[in-house]
Amino acid sequence: MTKQTIDIDFNFDNSYANQLEGFYVPLLGDKAPAPKVVQFNSPLAQSLNINLNDFQTNQMAAVLSGGASPKGASPLAQAYAGHQFGHFSPQLGDGRALLIGEVIDKFGYRKDIQLKGSGRTPFSRNGDGKAALGPVLREYLMGEAMHALNIPTTRALAVVTTGEKVMRDRLLPGAVLSRVAASHLRVGTFQFFVSHENTEQVKKLADYTIWRHFPELIETDNKYLNLLRAVIDKQASLVAKWMQVGFVHGVMNTDNVTISGETIDYGPCAFIDSYDPNATFSSIDKQGRYAYSNQPAMAKWALARLAETLLPLLASDREKAIELATNAVNDFDTRYQTLWLEGMRLKLGLSTIEKADLALVQQLHRVMEKQNVDFTLMFRGLSDVLEGNVDVVNALFDNPEKFELWCVLWLERLKRDPLPSKERINMMQKVNPIYIPRNHKVEEALQLAENEMDFSLFEKLINVLNEPFKKQNGYDDYALPAPASFGCYKTFCGT
Ligand code: AMP
Ligand code: MG
Repeated sequence: MTKQTIDIDFNFDNSYANQLEGFYVPLLGDKAPAPKVVQFNSPLAQSLNINLNDFQTNQMAAVLSGGASPKGASPLAQAYAGHQFGHFSPQLGDGRALLIGEVIDKFGYRKDIQLKGSGRTPFSRNGDGKAALGPVLREYLMGEAMHALNIPTTRALAVVTTGEKVMRDRLLPGAVLSRVAASHLRVGTFQFFVSHENTEQVKKLADYTIWRHFPELIETDNKYLNLLRAVIDKQASLVAKWMQVGFVHGVMNTDNVTISGETIDYGPCAFIDSYDPNATFSSIDKQGRYAYSNQPAMAKWALARLAETLLPLLASDREKAIELATNAVNDFDTRYQTLWLEGMRLKLGLSTIEKADLALVQQLHRVMEKQNVDFTLMFRGLSDVLEGNVDVVNALFDNPEKFELWCVLWLERLKRDPLPSKERINMMQKVNPIYIPRNHKVEEALQLAENEMDFSLFEKLINVLNEPFKKQNGYDDYALPAPASFGCYKTFCGT
């Protein structure tokens, strides 16, 4: 590998490259003809101790497009496998991404810095290894929105345009996203070595994962079972949070399910407007496999695939290992339900627990169904109800009668809850956002950037989404659902 090393120092501390030989292919990215940093995330850069002035330099543009290596980098493409829409591919891997290194951030957390769209790798199959500006900006925006909503997620550090066009359904401006993640370990990473029948490597990976993400498990009995349980817990918590804000990931293939519990790969994702359990936005998800209400089941399905990879490590007796794994995976349901209900209680302003709360929450969902009611505005509007304004929420329903009946039950329940009204409203407004990435606003911002290299709407949208819980003057339209003329929203994988 010929390396052009550049005088930029991220202070890399590369554990994956050093500890997991055989799990990757070292290589450099393509040299972009005219790399230019068009967006960078200053708060994130600062948390990673990266000098903000560096983003103005040509060297940084070269580094973040993949063509040059900063000091201490060990650029590599990671190997992984995965079930895509239920079908197993023994070899996927980073087909257009490079992990350039790991840094320890200001808070002591280890973070991957990965480039996406940096050129072909041995895992590219028929792909060109590139990314187009629109999908790259979309991933940036969605990650920041999720982060501000307090949902674990990978985040974008910067966007570099490459100065070349990439061919999709038409020629589009090419770009590279630099992505920061707790790690890029996926369920599919574990599946890779099982498909190669290499138990030693699975064990090595499991030990590495425990060291990196769950060091508290190192000394425990049956640490591999505990690893499985810990990942199940992280995913149950993550998907519960998605459901509470109406997020549809769109492509929960096992290579897109992280071990860290972060949301990853914002391809065909979207937030629901009107509440619809079957909401599916992805143009390729014809069966609705990854529909809104299917997400918990699909996370569980992916975790069962992870459990399978760990079987040889769980017990020497295979029957026993299967029993342990099955029990752990089945615990997902209770864990998810508990975490989801905990979150829903906050959304409804409940500080205490009653047995009938689940029924109350379920009833609200039934009331919302087929009512064309905006999910985000409805929940935010509940605090208006407590401030004496029922009209705002009522107006959201085609037929508000059922909602009014539900409100009576809810208000009765609140009478038995000791929280003072002001605190309750405060609590609700910290979990019920005003602003989510509205699909029409996202499209509008991306199109302007893609067609005219004008990032003004993109930046405006990011600014609004950075504070999703606080009313921002002059941005009323950012809180509204798409006009009817926007039509039925479809998203594309953006490869
Ligand atoms: P995704 O659906 O984006 O999670 O990607 C699934 C697999 O396809 C991964 O192995 C990616 O690296 C690979 N892939 C996606 N897009 C491209 C591309 N343009 N060139 C090469 N590989 C790609
Ligand atoms: Mg992926």
